[in-house]
Amino acid sequence: MPDGLAYPDRISLAQLPTPLQCLSYPAVSERRLWCKRDDLTGCLLSGNKVRKLEFVLADALAQGADTLITCGGLQSNHCRATALLAAQLGLGCQLVLRGEQPPIADGNLLLSQLAGADVSCYPVRRYHHHLPELLHEHAERLRNAGRKPYIIPTGASDGVGVWGYIACAQELAVQFNAEAIRAPLVVCAAGSGGTLAGLAAGLSLYCPEAQVLGVAVCDDADYFYRRVHEDLSACRDRYPSFGLIEPKNFTVVDDYIGPGYAQGYPEVFDTIATLARHTGVVLDPVYTAKAFYGMLEQLRLDKFSARDVVFVHTGGIFGIYPERTSLSR
Ligand SMILES: *Cc1c(COP(=O)(O)O)cnc(C)c1O
Repeated sequence: MPDGLAYPDRISLAQLPTPLQCLSYPAVSERRLWCKRDDLTGCLLSGNKVRKLEFVLADALAQGADTLITCGGLQSNHCRATALLAAQLGLGCQLVLRGEQPPIADGNLLLSQLAGADVSCYPVRRYHHHLPELLHEHAERLRNAGRKPYIIPTGASDGVGVWGYIACAQELAVQFNAEAIRAPLVVCAAGSGGTLAGLAAGLSLYCPEAQVLGVAVCDDADYFYRRVHEDLSACRDRYPSFGLIEPKNFTVVDDYIGPGYAQGYPEVFDTIATLARHTGVVLDPVYTAKAFYGMLEQLRLDKFSARDVVFVHTGGIFGIYPERTSLSR
């Protein structure tokens, strides 16, 4: 295994390594199906965001920040993880959320509020057109109040956050060796693209035979090809001596988004129920269930020949509860 890559500073926040679990799932019986259990990076910190935040928050602390500002949808897993980590580290937290504040908070929003985050909600159009200004207005307000704010972009996907899944690729390579997994297909959901960027870059280094498949849950495939290259070039600009390489080993499919981001459809809800019943693994309706369904369809269509298929479960459990109506059987 190459050891040429130097990592930036990181604070240990996630429970690592997460297990690589073999799933017995009828639909892919001729292959081995594995689940990288990144839903187990923590209880309240479950999911992929905490891996990225290990690097992003090290950067924030190094810059002397005392307040985190970040953004996302009303049920953002990333905002929930950031709010809880801010509480853990004794930092303030301002969340800029997309949508109308509901009268009673549920799921991730409830947890973010419990963690003491200041929550500001904005109508969808205003959020889409003015997000950078909204973030800077909050930063300015906090600076005027004597605080030192640090803005974390959507999903902590940037040139710093990408290290979270480069490090995960290194962790996977060790597990692949232990399980005699040779040239796997590694599948993840793509939301803000940082997980995909990190896995593609990290695996092209630590396991060059691996292929990576990103299943889009919001924007189209072109967006994610662009995002991966942007995040990795931001990373190279920031850490010029770190020897990051350009990945050529990944594909994005955008056929499983359905009506839109965070909008489910029957196959998605059925996927959650079927997997839970057969394996005890529970997917979330916004990201992982769409990605898992997309993966099964791609395998059914014989788009990939890998004998070992590794699904990266990126978390999202608290997204189940606001979808209780669609998920009740
Ligand atoms: C944010 C998120 C993703 C998407 O990861 P990105 O790095 O933003 O593409 C996938 N699954 C869950 C559960 C998430 O919260």
